[in-house]
Amino acid sequence: MKIPGIQFGSKKAEMAIDPVCKMQVDVSNPPGGKSEYQGKTYYFCSPGCRTSFQKEPEKFLKSTTPQPM
Ligand SMILES: [Zn+2]
Repeated sequence: MKIPGIQFGSKKAEMAIDPVCKMQVDVSNPPGGKSEYQGKTYYFCSPGCRTSFQKEPEKFLKSTTPQPM
């Protein structure tokens, strides 16, 4: 399965959204590491967010609503 990258103007880095705090995380160097859940990879801004996600991933995925900036 391929996850489409999000492009930001001239920036080429692929970004992902931290499902816990909704921050943008550089997938090539996620400060909080990454975690796989149900075949999808999630990236985190900090180890704390990753720990929260791994404890209750569904809680964060359920409330994931795309919010316009
Ligand atoms: Zn976070």
